[in-house]
Order: sequence, then structure tokens, then C-alpha cells
Amino acid sequence: MYEGAIQDLIDELGRLPGVGPKSAQRIAFHVLSADPVDVKRLAQALQRVKELVRFCTRCFNVAEAELCRICRDPRRSDEVFCVVEEPKDVVAIERTGEFRGRYHVLGGAINPLEGIGPDNLRIRELMTRLADGACKELILATDPNTEGEATATYLALLVKPMGLNVTRLASGLPVGGDLEYADEITLGRAFEGRRAV
Ligand SMILES: [Zn+2]
Repeated sequence: MYEGAIQDLIDELGRLPGVGPKSAQRIAFHVLSADPVDVKRLAQALQRVKELVRFCTRCFNVAEAELCRICRDPRRSDEVFCVVEEPKDVVAIERTGEFRGRYHVLGGAINPLEGIGPDNLRIRELMTRLADGACKELILATDPNTEGEATATYLALLVKPMGLNVTRLASGLPVGGDLEYADEITLGRAFEGRRAV
């Protein structure tokens, strides 16, 4: 529709999740009329996130060092682990202020239709972390949808022989939904009311 650089920008923006053609066009023209300093800052932020951010070698949350902020925090309990699908779920749970333990980010959920099995998730790494026996409770906070439930069931069976207390977030979360979209109060309550599985 447009020529050259502006169309390139619209095309790139349009490839982002949740950005339709109209939004892509609106953002592109906003960038065009914005202060060059602001645009430079945006470009640098995009570059820096790829250069600096990596995954925590222990829990696989996003990190800017070998270990993430949560793994480095000595005040957090090593006796409770919360297993989530994605780093954005860590943020959602941190917002509730209900959890003071450690996390383990699986990197997705079991989804046979998309060819994602247990071996594609960081389950082996979780088992290695649990092997020292320090963790007493494992909270399965995978999404309340089919894939999340399947993953929680798989993990519950897997860790059962280890004698851990395994819990799942209470109902009240929107079924079929995504953990990150639950509001803080609902997610906080689901945390408090977690039940043994
Ligand atoms: Zn970590």
C-alpha cells in the first residue's frame, strides 16, 4: 500500500501478536511523527531485550544474569516450588503477593496436537531440582485449560513417588483460560485455596 520504509515497518508490526493491519498502520504513522529521541529509545529497547535477556539456568524464568531475580533472593523459601508454563505466569503470580517460594517455568504445556510432549518441556530439569529433597510442596499452577490440566496430571503422577505434597490452584479461575488473564484477587484466592492432588 505504501512504499519503502513505511511499508516495511507496517509489515513488521503486523507480524506481532495482537497487532492487526489497522493497528500496524496506526503505530507506523505514530512512529513517523514521533520525536526521533523517543523512536531511538524504542529501537534500543527492542535490541537490548534480545542482547541482554536470557533464561535463568535454574528455573527458566527470564533473567539478565545466570540466575533470575527470584532465584537470587535468599529470603524466598526453598520448600515450596510453583510450576508454571511461561515467564508471564511468574509475573501474574508475583502480582498476587501470595507466594514466597521458588518457581519452575516449563516453557509450555503438553499438547499432543502440536507435538509437544513431556520431553519438550523442562520437566527433566524440574526433577533434577527436586532430587535434593529440600522442596516439600509442589504447586501446579499450569493454565486451567485442557493442556494445562494434562500437564498437571502428568507431573502429579511423576512426582508422587517422591512423597511431596502436590497441590493444584483452587477453582475460580476461568476454565479454558490463561493464567495471565486472571485478575490478582481471583488468582490470589486460587492460591490460598489450593488443594492436594
Ligand atoms: Zn530463576
